[in-house]
Amino acid sequence: MPSFQIFTPAEIESLRKGGKILHDCLQETARHVRPGISTGELDLIAEAYIRSHGASPAFKGYRGFPGSLCISVNDECVHGIPGPRLLKDGDIVSLDGGVVFDGLITDACITVGVGTISPATQKFLNSTKQALDEACRMMKPGIRVGDISHTVQTVVEKAGYHCLRALTGHGLGNTLHQFPDVPNVGKAGTGPVVPVGTILAIEPITSMGTRDIREADDHWTLLSDDGSLTAHFEHTVLFVKNGYEILT
Ligand code: MG
Repeated sequence: MPSFQIFTPAEIESLRKGGKILHDCLQETARHVRPGISTGELDLIAEAYIRSHGASPAFKGYRGFPGSLCISVNDECVHGIPGPRLLKDGDIVSLDGGVVFDGLITDACITVGVGTISPATQKFLNSTKQALDEACRMMKPGIRVGDISHTVQTVVEKAGYHCLRALTGHGLGNTLHQFPDVPNVGKAGTGPVVPVGTILAIEPITSMGTRDIREADDHWTLLSDDGSLTAHFEHTVLFVKNGYEILT
C-alpha cells in the first residue's frame, strides 16, 4: 500500500531551508525575465542560484531532463526544455523548479508576464494563483485530497478557465513524485485524508481554452492542444497540527 511520507522535526527544518532557497531562486530568476532573454539564460541563472546556496537542482538529470528549471512559454504548459528560445514582449513564461537540500525535495512554480501583457492575460494568471492560494487555505485537520482538487477546479472554472486534466500535483520528499496524486479536478470529501507532518506539491495547471494537452516533438514539452495560453502556479505545502505552512 502506498502511503504518505511523514517527516521528523529535523527533516521539516531541512525542507524549510530547501523551500526558501527555491522560493528565492524563482523570484531572482523572474527578475531577469524580459523581452530578448533566452530560456536557457534563465535556466543558468536559476542553477547558479541553487548551487551557490548549498542545494542542487532536483530536475536536472531527472529521467534525463537537461535543465534545472522547466521553462514553458505561452501554450506550453509544463516540462519545457530551457534553450535558445527568446522571450517576446507579451509572452507568459512559467518557471518551474525543484531543489534538493539535505536529500529532501521541494517543488514550486510561478508564471510571469514578459514585458507588457494584456489585462485579460493578467486576469488569467491571477485566477490560477488564486486557485492555489484557496487550495492552501483549505488545509485543516481531516482534509482529504479531493477537497484540494475540488477547490482548485471550482476557482478556475468560476473564472471561466479550465484545468488541464492530465496534469496533477503530488506527494514528494525523498523523491520528486510520490504518493498521493493531487488532481486539479475532483469531488470534495473523497480521496485519502492528509495526515499531519506530510508535504504536498499543489499545482493548478490551467488553460484559457481546452482541458486537453498534447506532447511536442521533443517528447518533453506538453502544450494545450488548442494552442491557448496556459498558466502554472505551485507550492510545496507542509501540513501541521493547526493548518499549513507554505515552504516555497
Ligand atoms: Mg510538481
